[in-house]
Amino acid sequence: MCGIIGYTGRRNASEIIYQGLKRLEYRGYDSSGAAYLADGKLSVVKKEGKVEKLLPLLKDVKSSLGIGHTRWATHGVPSDTNSHPHRSGNIAVVHNGIIENYAELKGKLISDNYKFVSDTDSEVVAHLLNKNYSGNLLEAMQKTVKMLKGSYALIAICDSENRIIAARYKSPLILGYGSGENYLASDEPALAGLCETISILQDGDIAEVSSESIKIYDENLTPVSREVFPNLAVCCDLGLDNCPHYMLKELREVPDSVRFTERAFEGIRQKLSAILSDVNRAVFVGCGTAYHAAMIGKRYAESFARIPCEAETGGEFRYKQPVIDGRTAVFAISQSGETADTVEAARLALSLGAKVVAVTNSHHSELTRIAHVVVPVAAGPEICVAATKSYTGQVAALYLTANLLAKRQPEKLDKVYDLCKKTVAELNIGSLAQVCAKARGVYFLGRDLDYAVAVEGSLKLKEVSYVPGEGYPSGELKHGTLALIDEETVSVFIICDDLLADKSVNAVEQVRSRGGKTAVFTNVDRVIEKLRSETPYVFELPRCDKYLSPLLSAIAVQKLAYQTAVALGRDPDKPRNLAKSVTVE
Ligand code: GLU
Repeated sequence: MCGIIGYTGRRNASEIIYQGLKRLEYRGYDSSGAAYLADGKLSVVKKEGKVEKLLPLLKDVKSSLGIGHTRWATHGVPSDTNSHPHRSGNIAVVHNGIIENYAELKGKLISDNYKFVSDTDSEVVAHLLNKNYSGNLLEAMQKTVKMLKGSYALIAICDSENRIIAARYKSPLILGYGSGENYLASDEPALAGLCETISILQDGDIAEVSSESIKIYDENLTPVSREVFPNLAVCCDLGLDNCPHYMLKELREVPDSVRFTERAFEGIRQKLSAILSDVNRAVFVGCGTAYHAAMIGKRYAESFARIPCEAETGGEFRYKQPVIDGRTAVFAISQSGETADTVEAARLALSLGAKVVAVTNSHHSELTRIAHVVVPVAAGPEICVAATKSYTGQVAALYLTANLLAKRQPEKLDKVYDLCKKTVAELNIGSLAQVCAKARGVYFLGRDLDYAVAVEGSLKLKEVSYVPGEGYPSGELKHGTLALIDEETVSVFIICDDLLADKSVNAVEQVRSRGGKTAVFTNVDRVIEKLRSETPYVFELPRCDKYLSPLLSAIAVQKLAYQTAVALGRDPDKPRNLAKSVTVE
């Protein structure tokens, strides 16, 4: 949800900003821009479209200080003028977040004769900085943020000062420490290979970054110190590894996400067990794919620990009056650890005295900072906007956590790791993807855990191929969705639960008798035998413990989504209208 980068130091800022924006592009890619100082002059370049469009505008620039932005529009269409940085006089600023009181501020600025050129909320910040500036950008920032309501990560420069000024409230911003150079960015992967240590700004912090030093202040400009961490992304390989898309590369990394998550779990086992010791209720919260992992977490905890459990989306949870207390565990699941609705849900749970457990792939995020304990998802950086390996990492983490909650010994995951590898390598889904690419609608159906994977399969397909559809419990089909079935639709059944298999086969027959196309992902022998003669699209998954089968069926639906997107000529890594980490409400 918009990526920010800043650099000052001995190297060429324009190159570092361009490379940083390329790495941040998964956070937003409708437009991008940069502002830099060259020979004491402030210049701003910006362009609608993907970051590469900025290259011709930056390639001959020599500068030692600059800021950049890749946008996911919230206010105002993607266009050159609405792109960031926004400039007012000798000041330029980039913004991630939403200024909720921008209309009121804009009205006042207009009456002060400020001219607005964009439709964004962010432009008010540029004019406020200008208005509040009297020779010191740090003080102008302090005055400006006092006037803002909403969420922001801001970085600003001015033509008469050799430093970058930043402020943060509810949108992520990190600082990177180099030698004779320093950085600012929305996340760690943007600084991969650039600096070895980072610190994370907290809400209300204001920072002053020059090539020689980084100073952090609170809202009153009193110096504060923030912990310095190793940059975990320092040696990450963010390349494509000979794959045409990150989605395919990351799908191939699904088995490792399971294996490394199991290893990382050992490091928190003791602390987690102490925190969960008197828990008698669990709530699993997430958004999008993480919500679908939450559905699985709920089922695991219910089955293993036999305690009441719920799964909720972050956006719903935070605005109801949840019935939770000190014996409730709230599992806040977010790949980035910055998902605004999930972070706010976690804050609400904390205020109500619950035990808050972060389940996240990002080890220096807001969620990790506020939670009582972090269950690490060790999927590694995920660049494709659509989640693949982070989802399977979350499922593995929740499986291990629910077992611990139940004081039960989990299955070792090395066997399922091998089966994941086999599924990634051998499941050949191309023919079905061709059919889905031409379908008017694709429905994913299953029961119980298979239903949870079905909703994720449907989301994945919608995200990357734009083929409409839905995920539905197969038992509910006859209560509504069956009305949509005809020969232009495909119904994809997931059947990995032996006990419920025959019920799902009934649903396959109901679709077939209405002329709908069907496909089945299953590891139940009698289902394979029965349906193989009836539908050409029966795909056999490896046999495994039913509770671990979501890891295998997830690979199947992810592959189907990927190949359908490719068949339709879509870019699965950057689906239209989406951005990876949703840091606004
Ligand atoms: N609200 C700003 C805009 O629409 C920033 C959006 C973002 O965080 O991506 O331009």
